[in-house]
Amino acid sequence: MSATETAIASAEAHSAHNYHPLPVVVASAEGAWMTDVEGRRYLDLLAGYSALNFGHGNRRLIDAAKAQLERVTLTSRAFHHDRFADFCTRLAELCSMEMVLPMNTGAEAVETAVKTARKWGYRVKGVPDGMAKIIVASDNFHGRTTTIISFSTDPEARADYGPYTPGFEIVPYGDLTALREAMTENTVAVLIEPIQGEAGVLVPPAGYLPGVRELTRERNVLFIADEIQSGLGRTGKTFACEHEGVVPDMYVLGKALGGGVVPVSAVVSSADILGVFKPGEHGSTFGGNPLACAVALEVIAMLRTGEYQERAAELGDHLHRELGLLAGGGAVEAVRGRGLWAGVDIAPALGTGREISERLMEERVLVKDTHGSTIRIAPPLVISKEDLDWGLDRLRTVLSS
Ligand SMILES: *Cc1c(COP(=O)(O)O)cnc(C)c1O
Repeated sequence: MSATETAIASAEAHSAHNYHPLPVVVASAEGAWMTDVEGRRYLDLLAGYSALNFGHGNRRLIDAAKAQLERVTLTSRAFHHDRFADFCTRLAELCSMEMVLPMNTGAEAVETAVKTARKWGYRVKGVPDGMAKIIVASDNFHGRTTTIISFSTDPEARADYGPYTPGFEIVPYGDLTALREAMTENTVAVLIEPIQGEAGVLVPPAGYLPGVRELTRERNVLFIADEIQSGLGRTGKTFACEHEGVVPDMYVLGKALGGGVVPVSAVVSSADILGVFKPGEHGSTFGGNPLACAVALEVIAMLRTGEYQERAAELGDHLHRELGLLAGGGAVEAVRGRGLWAGVDIAPALGTGREISERLMEERVLVKDTHGSTIRIAPPLVISKEDLDWGLDRLRTVLSS
């Protein structure tokens, strides 16, 4: 057996089968490239679902992590540490908000947003105890906890995990009328992705996000934007909401915030909203730890210059122009997205998204299917134009064979 086959066989024997990875075993990576255990190089067009916006082994991020590793890595929130205040201040600044509540994974940050909205609903808005409702969108992806999958519409994510957490109302994504009709005086929040990533990089109709903003403001309801995948440069702006000139009440961040080095997530909002928490009412052992703060501080510093956002916008225009040409040819049925982020619907006759991904892997390009015949393209924002073009060439080869 090859080194690849051996590694996959033993992973399959000893790990739960909750994933179905492509048959490639990565041993090292740099920038937009990964090298497998047999020395083959692959172009990474997934970037850890946008956790690797700054590329693999980014020098600044690795140096920041190494320096912090030598000083202090964990204090728990029982004590202050000397990176915490800077992290919260800088992140709040980047978001033009006031307060930060740090967690680790995206799902924990979404859970935090749900808890914040409910507590705000009872303490500030005056919703009767136990009656708070949060409106979410169909085809959402907000994570994998029991509460979060309770309001998923994806049977795969949800089946067999009941009893489900009540208190959520699902309306069609992009539909303002349905949203208006679903609102009652007990609605405390609307939680949506400004672009739905896992659903296939679905961009809502123009005017939807401003409409959500207007409705939520009118009805004294919190607008929570899950920018875990869409945020921090991916779409050509710091936040996907910015494309529509919208400022939500709360950002939920994760993925790229940890620079692909450590899991870092956060809820970022105003003082009257995050101010609802008192000591002991919410927390996390690892949330806001010194290593996480050191890496995230470097991420924030990189985003502050705007150069990564600009790069994502420019290369993204190029990506969408090239994909648009493919869409005219019959092999591709639709292309969606913004910036360096695209959902590509392949003509089903050519194969499932999985089969296309496997064929791309043979051409040394790594992507991941989302649903059915859709593949997602989300390279690290540091990818060179030449490498991106090379990847697009491989895609053309696969689609024409
Ligand atoms: C990935 C993702 C999450 C969950 O993040 P985890 O770190 O995997 O828990 C939540 N929301 C969105 C939009 C995501 O893309």
